[in-house]
Amino acid sequence: MGAENSENDTFFESVQRNFDKAAKLTRFDHGILEQIKACNSILRVRFPVKIGNDIEVIEAYRVQHSHHKLPCKGGIRFSLEVNQEEVMALASLMTYKCAIVNVPFGGAKGGIKINSRKYTDFELENITRRYTSELVKKNFIGPGIDVPAPDYGTSAREMSWIMDTYTSLNPNDIDAEACVTGKPVSQGGVRGRAEATGLGVFFGVREACSFQEDMEKIGLTAGIAGKRIIVQGLGNVGYHAAKYFQAAGAKLVGLIEYDGAIYDENGLDVDLVQAHRKTTGSILNFPGAINISDPAEGLEQPCDILIPAALESVIHKDNADRIQAKIVGEAANGPLTADADEILNKKGVLVIPDIYLNAGGVTVSYFEWLKNLSHVRYGRLEKRFSENMYKELIDIIESTTGKRVSDLERKTILRGPDEIDLVHSGLEDTMI
Ligand code: GLU
Repeated sequence: MGAENSENDTFFESVQRNFDKAAKLTRFDHGILEQIKACNSILRVRFPVKIGNDIEVIEAYRVQHSHHKLPCKGGIRFSLEVNQEEVMALASLMTYKCAIVNVPFGGAKGGIKINSRKYTDFELENITRRYTSELVKKNFIGPGIDVPAPDYGTSAREMSWIMDTYTSLNPNDIDAEACVTGKPVSQGGVRGRAEATGLGVFFGVREACSFQEDMEKIGLTAGIAGKRIIVQGLGNVGYHAAKYFQAAGAKLVGLIEYDGAIYDENGLDVDLVQAHRKTTGSILNFPGAINISDPAEGLEQPCDILIPAALESVIHKDNADRIQAKIVGEAANGPLTADADEILNKKGVLVIPDIYLNAGGVTVSYFEWLKNLSHVRYGRLEKRFSENMYKELIDIIESTTGKRVSDLERKTILRGPDEIDLVHSGLEDTMI
C-alpha cells in the first residue's frame, strides 16, 4: 500500500496511512472506519524490579487495538525501541492480520522497553513475572480476554513464565493454560509453533512465485529453486524461513544481523552460519563470504527475493530506491514504511505484505489456544495434530491468495518440516 503526503511518519502514522488508503476502496461509513482504526485500550505501566543491588523502573505496555472479536491476540516484545506508538502500530497490524487469515481474534501487542542482553535469566524472569502480574491486575490477560505470544526478543521460555504467573494468580481458572501461546510443548504448547511464522513466510513467497505471468512481469521465472535470497534477521522467523527456502533449492546469498551482513554469491548454508555465530558471537567473517559492516547496506545487495525478518521501518524513503530485489517479502511486522512501499511499487518490485505473509505464527497460536481450551492431551497423536495443523496452515495461506497448489506439491510441502527436522532445533532465540 502506498503513501500520501508523507514526511518522516512514525511507524503508527505509516500504518494509519496504509489503512486510510485501503479504506478508500471500501464502502464503509467514515465512523465505522474510524472505529476500526482506533486503538481500543492502552495500558502503560511502570514497575520496579531489583536488578543487582539497584531497583530499576521498567516501562511496559499492552495495547488492545480491537475488541471486535475476543480474546485479543498478539505477541510481547522485549526491545529498547519499545514505545507506546510502536506498540499501537503493532497491535493494529495484529487486527488486520487476524482478519486477513480469518483467525477469530482482535489485535493486541505488548512491549517491555529493555535490552534483554543486559539482564541475567533470573532478572528477565522477574521482569516478565512482574509485567504479567500488572496485566492480571488491570485485566489485560486471560484466555477469553487477551492472549499474548512471543515476539521480537521473547520465546517459549518467557511464555512459560507468563503462564505460571497467570495460573498462580488465577488458581480457579480452569482454562488458564490458554492465557498465552507459543509455550514449550511440555507446558501445553504445540509442536511446530516455533517454525510456523517462517514456514508461513515460505508458503506465501512460494505461492507468489508460482504465478508464471506475474513472475515474467518482474523478469523472473516461476518457482523458488535457484532464486537468490537475502534474509535480514536470524531470529526465529528469519532462521526458519531461510531453512525452508534453502530446502526448496533457493540460494541464500546474503544474511544480515544487527552487527553487520555477509554476502556470498555462491550461496551460504544457514546452519553453518548459525554454528559460526555461536562460536564467534557474530555472523561476520564467515569463511568465503564478504563482510558488509553496515547492516543497512546488506539490504541493498543483489538478489531476487529480500526477506526483512527483524524490526519495522528498515526500508524507508531514503534507501528504498537502492533495493535491488524484485520481490520483497515482509516477514517482520512493518519492515517497509508507507513511503518505501510506494517507491518499490513504482519500481515494479512485488511486495508481499506482512499482514498476510507473517500470519503463520498467529494461525498456529490459534490452534494452540484451541488445544488448551479443549483440554486435550495429544500424546502420541501430537505428530498427527502437527501434520493437520500444517495442512490447515497451507489451506489458509493458499485460500488467502486464491490459488491452490497441486496434491503433489502439497505432499512435498508437508514433508518439509520432517525432512528438515526443525521441531526440536533448539533455536529458542526470538519468535515473531
Ligand atoms: N508475534 C506474532 C505476530 O506478530 C504472533 C502473535 C501470536 O501468535 O499471537 O504475529
